[in-house]
Amino acid sequence: MPIYNAPVEDMMFLFEKLRNNKKYNEIDKYKEFNPDLVKDILEEAAKVTQNLILPLAKSGDENPAILENGVVRTPPGYKEAYKKFIEDGWVSLSCDPKYGGQGMPKTVSTFFDEMLSAASLSFKLYSELTIGAYNCLLNHASDEIKNLYLPKMVEGKWSGTMCLTEPVCGTDLGLLKTKAQEQSGGTYKISGQKIFITSGDHDLTENIIHLVLARSTDSPKGTKGISLFLVPKFIVNTDGSVGSRNGVSTGSIEDKMGIKGSATCVLNFDEAVGYMIGPKNKGLNSMFTMMNLERIIVGIQGLGISEIAYQNSLSYAKERKQGKSHNSKSNNGADLIIEHADIRRSLLNMKSIIEGERALSFWLSQQIEVSLNHNDEKTKQEASDFVSLITPVVKSMFTDNAMEITSEAMQIHGGYGFTKDQGIEQLYRDNRITPIYEGTNSVQAADLVFRKLITKNGDVIDRYIQLVKDEIDFKEDKAQFYVKELNKNIETLVKFTEWIKDKVKNVPEDASAACNDYLKVLGLVATGHAWIKVLEVCYKEYENNKEFYEEKIQTAKFFFNRVLPKAESHFLTATTGSKYIMDYKFN
Ligand SMILES: Cc1cc2nc3c(=O)[nH]c(=O)nc-3n(C[C@H](O)[C@H](O)[C@H](O)COP(=O)(O)OP(=O)(O)OC[C@H]3O[C@@H](n4cnc5c(N)ncnc54)[C@H](O)[C@@H]3O)c2cc1C
Repeated sequence: MPIYNAPVEDMMFLFEKLRNNKKYNEIDKYKEFNPDLVKDILEEAAKVTQNLILPLAKSGDENPAILENGVVRTPPGYKEAYKKFIEDGWVSLSCDPKYGGQGMPKTVSTFFDEMLSAASLSFKLYSELTIGAYNCLLNHASDEIKNLYLPKMVEGKWSGTMCLTEPVCGTDLGLLKTKAQEQSGGTYKISGQKIFITSGDHDLTENIIHLVLARSTDSPKGTKGISLFLVPKFIVNTDGSVGSRNGVSTGSIEDKMGIKGSATCVLNFDEAVGYMIGPKNKGLNSMFTMMNLERIIVGIQGLGISEIAYQNSLSYAKERKQGKSHNSKSNNGADLIIEHADIRRSLLNMKSIIEGERALSFWLSQQIEVSLNHNDEKTKQEASDFVSLITPVVKSMFTDNAMEITSEAMQIHGGYGFTKDQGIEQLYRDNRITPIYEGTNSVQAADLVFRKLITKNGDVIDRYIQLVKDEIDFKEDKAQFYVKELNKNIETLVKFTEWIKDKVKNVPEDASAACNDYLKVLGLVATGHAWIKVLEVCYKEYENNKEFYEEKIQTAKFFFNRVLPKAESHFLTATTGSKYIMDYKFN
């Protein structure tokens, strides 16, 4: 079984030292979450993830969720762990105290998301979609629905799902067929089939609250005719008790490459009672509340899996002896593989990406809090624009990097990485879904390029680039190498942005063929920005914690020498256009 030590020290470094964001500090809501309290929470979270959740990863992989006589059974140990998990209040971390939640800031709950993803993504998914559904209902449901459903969801006694995908409708939701027939009294009868539904059915909770996209029988075709419905597995009585079974059943569960402990279900809706959430035909807008937050969390899943892959690779590299390194000091026998330059390069690649991503996601969590809670509308809107710009970057870049990192982890383990012994191949398999679900990474890149750069609020990308330039203008001599490297790559981003804006208008195929590369360049600059903010603290406070800050500076050196410069090659290759791609005749 892989080892895992939650990176509490790095998380606390971010929380203590990188919170000096003026706009974030103007929010009153989180003043009580001081570093001492947060440290206590993270240390408890570390214990839960390391001791309770981590052992479930292997058992879930070896004994996947199954469908037995119409009932979905989770892997051995899941039920007991879930009971303890909800009793200790871990589902409700970021939820509103009004509904029984603990009202914690995103900056803290995101750390917990990372830990859970590292320990067992399959187990995490059972509560993750509940929080997604909670957020959607919190923003779009009537008070009556909120009061009836949210407290049980926050408690973890009821779970949630997100039902979009159908057999012929994946990325393109305009093709959606599930029907909603209005009934007297204002409810709907929902009929159709949804596939690939995460936690669509299971034995962990008393009820499951499905959020279903469907087309009302009198609505237009395409995305403009889609509404959102709440469809409970069991009808909820007006006093909040669980009543009769609704018309939702599980047709089958998927046999998958990874996340085998998570039940991915085909759900059949046969005139199931549904309640419309939000305005008619605006279901996609409401669902996007859930999807946008989920996309960030999927990025964090990639980060968590990267961290556990790195920790195990480091530990193995310090134990395994093979070959002589070029500057070997031992006269007899082989050296530890951590002495080989190529293994060290690989480990530093992982570490520099992971720590940069964690700092970037901390910045993004702060922006989310400002976008939700700041008193000034203009400040809120500005933060919200940055959140929507960086969301596809976090989703795609973190999950693609996690593929690279889990693959490198297997490589460091050699044959023992490919066999099941060390549990490393499972990390690769479990992570493989993250670039696919919640909108594939290609779809994220297209979303970034065609919808997020310029919005009705103007040129978001230009404002973001300006913000980065303003924030990296610090004068410490020793940091000038890093600032110069980032500035060089900002110039690449500026050139690429001009090119891509022109192509979006004039040659959209060129923009399409370049969008994945563009996302990577923006992601590299955003991670560089996060690293510079980390370095600023390291240099200012060096004497207070030399060992920790020196390690950060050396890790950053790798990022700025070996990772960030990849931006240039993305720019050069992508701007060769698409004609030769589109003209090619596939036989
Ligand atoms: C384990 C698992 C769990 C899931 N959980 C859920 C869930 O809880 N709820 C839910 O509703 N769905 C869920 N899904 C579905 C998932 O979100 C979809 O599989 C995903 O959105 C892609 O849709 P698709 O599989 O139909 O692929 P398609 O949409 O058919 O895409 C196939 C390929 O074409 C590319 N492509 C498609 N359109 C374009 C375009 N316009 N431009 C460029 N490239 C394009 C895609 O990037 C992809 O590479 C889950 C899937 C899995 C496997």
